[in-house]
Amino acid sequence: MKRFHFLLAAAALAFAACNAPKASDESANPADKVLVRDFFPDVANNIPVTKVERAKFTVIDMHSHDYVESPEQIAEWVKVMDAVGVEHTAIMHCSWIGRPFEEVVEAYAPYKDRFRFWCCFDYTGIDSEEWPAQGIAALERCKALGATGIGELGDKGEGDTYARPADGKGIHIDDPRVKPLIEKAGELKMPISIHIAEPIWMYLPMDETNDGLPNAACWHVDTTDCYGYWKLMETFENAVRENPGTLFIACHYLNMTHDWQRLGALLDKYPNMYVDISARVAESAHTPRATREFLIKYQDRVLFGTDNGMEAPMYQGIFRVLETSDEHFYVPEYNYHWALSGFNLPDEVLKKIYHDNAERILTEYK
Ligand SMILES: [Zn+2]
Repeated sequence: MKRFHFLLAAAALAFAACNAPKASDESANPADKVLVRDFFPDVANNIPVTKVERAKFTVIDMHSHDYVESPEQIAEWVKVMDAVGVEHTAIMHCSWIGRPFEEVVEAYAPYKDRFRFWCCFDYTGIDSEEWPAQGIAALERCKALGATGIGELGDKGEGDTYARPADGKGIHIDDPRVKPLIEKAGELKMPISIHIAEPIWMYLPMDETNDGLPNAACWHVDTTDCYGYWKLMETFENAVRENPGTLFIACHYLNMTHDWQRLGALLDKYPNMYVDISARVAESAHTPRATREFLIKYQDRVLFGTDNGMEAPMYQGIFRVLETSDEHFYVPEYNYHWALSGFNLPDEVLKKIYHDNAERILTEYK
């Protein structure tokens, strides 16, 4: 027995001697020269790499923005949508510092079957006597211009700062002043798409214990003078609970991909809540089995969205994650050092997430 221990110790020493840098020459360790933010290794494994050119089923993209600057770019975008299998794209007008809503609708008019438009809550005059009539009138006007829904509202702690044209600073979604608008949205059958908080890593200490550090450091949220993560989640839950006649779509999985149980519990509790998967590939594909389980369990409550431009590889990267069982690949554009793996979702689930759930909201909810 003693001899066995001795051999183990000797083996361990031999291993250490081969691998550790010499104490006298610490800088010789190449790992010391690599910054965590630059860590995007090539995958050495001989494993399947699937190129998904086109989505397996027709797609409705429920989360995009007005990225174009010319009619030619819209035509180009439609070509890409045709090639990758996107039937139509929701253009979220809020959060986008660009042209007014009516100009956006007009710009896309030649392709009006391929785009739908979501407008903002207009908080102009929120503290005046004309409120809420004024806000409701703005909403009705936007509906008359063809808006499908409202969004993307966005509260990262300081209020709905995505709002246009008025500044929504200090106005959170459960603010009593907003309730008449939320109720009106329900009456007009306009879903509300809302971005709440940021992924949890952006609130954690910015040090070696933060699992999402490279990206989190870029998007770090300073909560000194504003609502923190859980306070924001509370505002969202209040709004969803108090307005059962209005449908809420929590963008980016409600920024709760670190806790599928908790997100699932909210979906269980509130039938008027959906999530979109936009712009959270890395945050979901580094835990492929847990995410897959969530997506299968809540297959009727999840909507496809992109939120990341209009290039074909962007769409194809998301399709790869949803459709294949490829594993351990990196997407440097997402600015995470995590290796990603595909979910290999069953066809019936894919079909719902890609298309049927959105179609149901856009038709039956009407
Ligand atoms: Zn967005």
